[in-house]
Amino acid sequence: MAINIRIGNGYDIHRLVPERSLILGGVTIPHELGLLGHSDADVLTHAIMDAMLGALSLGDIGLHFPPSDPQWKGADSLNLLAQVNQLIQDKGWQVGNIDSVIVAERPKLKPHIPAMRDRLAAVLNLMPDQIGVKATTNEKLDATGREEGMAAYAVVLLHRQER
Ligand code: MG
Repeated sequence: MAINIRIGNGYDIHRLVPERSLILGGVTIPHELGLLGHSDADVLTHAIMDAMLGALSLGDIGLHFPPSDPQWKGADSLNLLAQVNQLIQDKGWQVGNIDSVIVAERPKLKPHIPAMRDRLAAVLNLMPDQIGVKATTNEKLDATGREEGMAAYAVVLLHRQER
């Protein structure tokens, strides 16, 4: 019997700095600091994309969207996510579900999670209940706990129809 499911995991971290927007899961969140990066630095969406690519052993987003390439400067990560989704669909795969965690000391992310799930679901043509987004603090420990950055972890299950 052919194996028609694949699993992938992704991790990302970005530095928090002044005068940058804080964008998580495509949602702009009011905060005095934002994430630094070549693209919009949407750490959650980056972890999800790496999980999707990893499930098919397709490398990572650095390979597909190199930071050295000026066309990705300031890129909307949801556009990159749509491209990754197209890539896996072109290979015959679909996302079954995603689960993710954002590690951030502040601000409180819980009120913004439904909007993140809705935006990610819209880009991926999924139902919001196929996309888990959780948030945790790091109990003031390490870089994320000191508010030097935010990190995100994601796992993704892909499935393929029998042909
Ligand atoms: Mg990143």
